[in-house]
Amino acid sequence: MTKTTSTDAAWERILVALDVPDAERAAALADTLHGLVGGYKIGKELFTSAGPDVVRRLVDRDERVFLDLKYHDIPNTVAGAVRAATRLGVWMVDVHASGGAAMMRAAREAADETAAASGRPRPLVIGVTVLTSLDEAALHAVGVPRSPLDQVLRLAALARESGLDGVVASPLETTAIRAACGDDFLIITPGIRGATNAADDQQRTATPGGAIAAGSSYLVIGRPIVRAQEPAAAARDIAHEMGGAQ
Ligand code: C5P
Repeated sequence: MTKTTSTDAAWERILVALDVPDAERAAALADTLHGLVGGYKIGKELFTSAGPDVVRRLVDRDERVFLDLKYHDIPNTVAGAVRAATRLGVWMVDVHASGGAAMMRAAREAADETAAASGRPRPLVIGVTVLTSLDEAALHAVGVPRSPLDQVLRLAALARESGLDGVVASPLETTAIRAACGDDFLIITPGIRGATNAADDQQRTATPGGAIAAGSSYLVIGRPIVRAQEPAAAARDIAHEMGGAQ
């Protein structure tokens, strides 16, 4: 049986990475993909160029927004950022788990308190473990003397103990995290490529169905949908493949 905490349908588990330079293109994509995907990830490029208005535009249309700004700072500052994200109405927000337990607890508490005060649902608070761009040598160079997988599992356990809802992880780490952290923990996986997609700059990829079978809760998918000739058709094909693996 596939292990996941998500009860969403296959299509709702697709989060499209809006890696586009401006709000107009983001809004056009959201129009095209409305009802075909479960939400949109807004990262540093779009947020830095378009600002919180691009988040508000999507939230006002009742779309789910994963604000992927990977906060990493002292607990007080991260709590303030999470309060602001909660007031914007985002559905999911992330922080670096390597910021430590106190920082993660502060993020979770800020989300709880701000949601309760504003009458909004609490955003899911997710931990970024080890960036997939770091290999073992790069980890050693920053003073972490273990393998990326060991470090991912350590940070995933710390994130769980600190009250976070889940982690972002590569598809290749999903099975081990699911085994270590249990079914009651979200795993968000980028690096998704279908059989006919180019790998682009991704090194460690899985198919949509493979990621679901490994235990992913949500798939972050950018170029295979955003740069497809027909993004809506690409999203439908991916949901179909995921549905077969659920
Ligand atoms: O276009 P593609 O499907 O590769 O986009 C994947 C998205 O997930 C991008 O926004 C990328 O920044 C993000 N991401 C990733 N690998 C991580 C964390 C985030 O590819 N480890």
